[in-house]
Amino acid sequence: MTDKQITAADKLRALQQSFATQLPERLATIRHLWVALQDNSVEAESCRELYRMIHSLAGSAGTFGFQRLGQAARQLEEFLMHLNDAAYSDAESVATIDSGLNQLDALANSGPDNAYAESSAITSQVAADTDHNRTLVYVLEDDHLLAREIVSQLEHFGYAAVSFPSTTDIILAQQAHPADAFILDIALPEGEQEGTRIAPQLQALAKSTVPLIFISSRDDWDARLSALRAGGSAYFKKPLDFSALVEKLDRLRGVDSAEPFRVLIVEDSVLLAEHYAAVLQAAGMKTDVIHDPARLLDVMSEFGPELILMDLYMSSCSGIEAAQIIRQHAAYQGLPIVYLSTETGLNQQLDALKMGGDDFLQKPIGDAHLVAAVSIRAQRFRGLNTLMTCDSLTGLLNHISLKLTLESELALLLRQEGTLSFAMLDIDHFKSINDGYGHPVGDRVIKSLARLLTQRLRKSDTVARYGGEEFAVIFPNTTAEEAHALIDELRQSFSKIVYSQENEEFAVTFSAGIATAPPHADVASLIEAADKALYEAKHGGRNQVVVN
Ligand code: GH3
Ligand code: MG
Ligand code: MG
Ligand code: MG
Repeated sequence: MTDKQITAADKLRALQQSFATQLPERLATIRHLWVALQDNSVEAESCRELYRMIHSLAGSAGTFGFQRLGQAARQLEEFLMHLNDAAYSDAESVATIDSGLNQLDALANSGPDNAYAESSAITSQVAADTDHNRTLVYVLEDDHLLAREIVSQLEHFGYAAVSFPSTTDIILAQQAHPADAFILDIALPEGEQEGTRIAPQLQALAKSTVPLIFISSRDDWDARLSALRAGGSAYFKKPLDFSALVEKLDRLRGVDSAEPFRVLIVEDSVLLAEHYAAVLQAAGMKTDVIHDPARLLDVMSEFGPELILMDLYMSSCSGIEAAQIIRQHAAYQGLPIVYLSTETGLNQQLDALKMGGDDFLQKPIGDAHLVAAVSIRAQRFRGLNTLMTCDSLTGLLNHISLKLTLESELALLLRQEGTLSFAMLDIDHFKSINDGYGHPVGDRVIKSLARLLTQRLRKSDTVARYGGEEFAVIFPNTTAEEAHALIDELRQSFSKIVYSQENEEFAVTFSAGIATAPPHADVASLIEAADKALYEAKHGGRNQVVVN
């Protein structure tokens, strides 16, 4: 059974089951400790141990469906927190602790309050992860306010995050449902080095090596070294810079890692074409095959190849002729064309290269050689292409590409008689962010908005960096109301992101204007209308979305 076939509910039930199974033993250990504490003279170490175990129960029981048990443990924890060691043997304290523990036992025996799959906070998150393939991040942090903040910040950026207050709980969860990444506090009530100590264990329970990020209030060499040795891929000092943390997580998770290369195979032998396609697909590339060169240009505009593998001798025309026709189109000037042939004569090969080809591969060609030859060239093409069409700070389309895309989307729309919406976004008072926190912090804000837009919008939407702190989004087949709802949700999410710089925290907002086609049927008037709406949003007080 694959992982996908196990439903989220099954996983959640398994999690709850593990917690419930271990609960009697946990309570027995607590009871045992308490009895020993009364028998012997009170030791500071035992008091702390008792407190720690109650604290950890308070933090986890509710998550696993035992809400009332969690609340009772929290009350007892608060009582213990204000109790100094000597007071543990007072008759009054003994009575309070006794009755508190009895209550815990009773609540544990009565089972979970409600079915786990419906109730707990973690449910929706783990379920959402399974349903939408969101990246699941487990956070180990005993400071529950900070834990909650980390979870909410990660959620803004589309991650599914669940926090755990103790190592026992995170290991349980990891056993039932392995996470895709971890954020681990180092110093926990269990020990000063607890986070680094259990990291290898969590990693061992993962399906494959996953990113581990350590967070700590320490910033010394030893702390960083032990985190590194525990397999940490990053280290963040508290107070946390959340946007930097998310950026790091993105990079470690390879969010912006490449899409598969698109390779078009032009080959009249069906069997050979299938073989090449299978080899390239096995190496993670996307392929399309053409047996009849007459269909070449249509397929190219549809598929957008990043390399063409061209047979030299075909029945209807030669590969050289096909390449020359491709090169007659300005858009395909830089596209790599690689000939495949049994041709061995050096002169014929050179002729072929002069006629629009880039390289010559000799049939029969080994699979590894084919993959290497294709991917190196496609990679180079993609790199050059990205330089020309994308903004270097955010990786989004640049101003020129946006206009070209808008033009072709509008043309398509006019043919289909649909509706297209266009939004322009501008960060509010951005100058004061640069002035107050420095240009690099301003850059980080720009990047995080770019990240939010690409993460949250649909694949069919086009996101671009229009100018400095201005962005544009093209929504094909979308009404103004729909676009407004999407952008407004993003506006709210963005305003909740917390940025920090040298212990100071701040939030940022943006304003947006939306226009639609029809009525604005050409690029210039669409942009002008959206810009006008944006101007209104600014004058209406900023942090709002206006439809023209
Ligand atoms: P408003 O709410 O009216 O939009 O005010 P604003 O301060 O955001 O607008 P204004 O256009 O006055 O300032 C935009 C600033 O953005 C000025 C410019 O220095 C800064 N900026 C432009 N591009 C970048 C960039 O790539 N990085 C950083 N850090 N700042 C940039
Ligand atoms: Mg801690
Ligand atoms: Mg501006
Ligand atoms: Mg601005």
